[in-house]
Amino acid sequence: MKSPADMRVIQIEITNACPKRCSNCTRFCGHHTEPFFMDFETFKTAVQSMKGFKGVVGIMGGEPTIHPEFEKFVKYFKENFGEDDPSTACYKPTSSFVNHILADVYNVVCCNQRGLWTSVTPRYYQHFELIQDTFGYQLVNDHSQTSMHETLMVTRKELGIPDDEWVKLRDKCWIQNLWSASITPKGAFFCEIAGALDATFNGPGGWKIEPGWWNRKPADFGEQLKWCEMCSAALPMPKRNANEEVDDVSPVWHEKLVQIDSPKLKKGLVNEFDPKAYKPEEHDVINERTPYMKDQTQRLVKGQQVLLPQSVLSDAWLTGRLDESGATRIISDLKGIERLDFVVSEEEAHCKLAEAAGVQAVRTAGRGGREVLAEIRERSKCRDWVLLMRDSLPPGGFFHLLKACVFNPGCLYWRYTGNDSVGLQFFNVRAFSLKQGADLFDLAAAYPSQKVISLEHDNVSAYRVTLARNIYRRALKRIKWPLKWMARKIGLLPPPSGGAPMPEGGAPTPTATVATAV
Ligand code: SF4
Ligand code: SF4
Repeated sequence: MKSPADMRVIQIEITNACPKRCSNCTRFCGHHTEPFFMDFETFKTAVQSMKGFKGVVGIMGGEPTIHPEFEKFVKYFKENFGEDDPSTACYKPTSSFVNHILADVYNVVCCNQRGLWTSVTPRYYQHFELIQDTFGYQLVNDHSQTSMHETLMVTRKELGIPDDEWVKLRDKCWIQNLWSASITPKGAFFCEIAGALDATFNGPGGWKIEPGWWNRKPADFGEQLKWCEMCSAALPMPKRNANEEVDDVSPVWHEKLVQIDSPKLKKGLVNEFDPKAYKPEEHDVINERTPYMKDQTQRLVKGQQVLLPQSVLSDAWLTGRLDESGATRIISDLKGIERLDFVVSEEEAHCKLAEAAGVQAVRTAGRGGREVLAEIRERSKCRDWVLLMRDSLPPGGFFHLLKACVFNPGCLYWRYTGNDSVGLQFFNVRAFSLKQGADLFDLAAAYPSQKVISLEHDNVSAYRVTLARNIYRRALKRIKWPLKWMARKIGLLPPPSGGAPMPEGGAPTPTATVATAV
């Protein structure tokens, strides 16, 4: 067993609700009649209690992004723990988000001390910018591919394992030794599974959440060790594919699940584990950190779809530089490919051309860009992406990019298209930079420079995180973070004490309205 102080990760579990029902979930999702949602005061206490911890503090669930106050929690976390690290934020478009993530997860402790564990839901997409700006370490798994989860819901006594043998196995338990202690709304626990068991079976709660609780040694774990008696993680046990959504439960566990009125049990999503048929020689004791998945790129397959632009409002911005035939060509070509929602122009002639073609016009003569942007948002009810095309058509292949790459809603993407001014701008109305409004005709002024991204290519393959790039980023992290750690140790750098606040304002839910679906 390990002191939490020596762990690489300690989790703050903000909910045990999850839209999924994976087999043998370590949080026993599906068995709670009432999942918990941590309150903000407890969360603040939990974050403050972790000051001084050298490893990663993870925000976890269940599925943490579905907590109704996720944004508020993460903003607080960002400002009060770890430090900002824009090098891990996904600002450039990527055709394989999982590779972007994998570049940063190598060696858990080489990061900004902030972690997120998630199955990547539509709520992740909603909070994409905040998540990238906050978490230097993300462990994602959408569980759409094979992911083998160990049987947990068996007691060692049912298997006839004697005390002396059991204590040796228990003390080497892979979850406690390789992963995490945790904080739930009911206190702090020496092991994340003990915390989940306490929440599931209405246990007595954990230790008081107070500064330094995590300095306890194994000799101090005391009563909490009783939870191990309910758990088979330390034993050689069979595994089951997570997306079968069936739990293997022993008779003792079955009885306990009846007592708590388990919804998953009622639905019949359990398989009776027969202790008499147990053959330990057919299984291994786990001693690696992620035993459930060999090909790490399989962590996000269906989840990638959730992160692609969900809807795009296409606006042609036609200036006085265009004559009538040029304006007509752009309107007609964009209409022909169903990529025109609004024409924005100060030229009455262009507006009339648009209306004659059945396209809505936004007249800008004598008006400022803030007012115009506000009008477009109001009239379109846009909640997601806007493509603004100035006097030009996107190059061939560009629209395919929008269907195949993950873009950060917090960034402004732009490119020239054939003349000396910006031709295309692609932005999301949910960007924190736009919360206070912005000048549509000078959008870049509203964004911090690192979030203004030039799109230099049209082919999707140019936005792949290659193996070489991945290795380079991992190597850089292995140098950067130990150097920082040493600089802090000898007093050249102050200890991390939180990052920059994000602008105020909630992120509206990205639902498609009149925008062109991509
Ligand atoms: S995604 Fe699956 S394993 Fe993760 S918390 Fe949800 S049900 Fe459990
Ligand atoms: S046996 Fe279960 S409760 Fe005990 S340390 Fe291992 S995972 Fe935690």
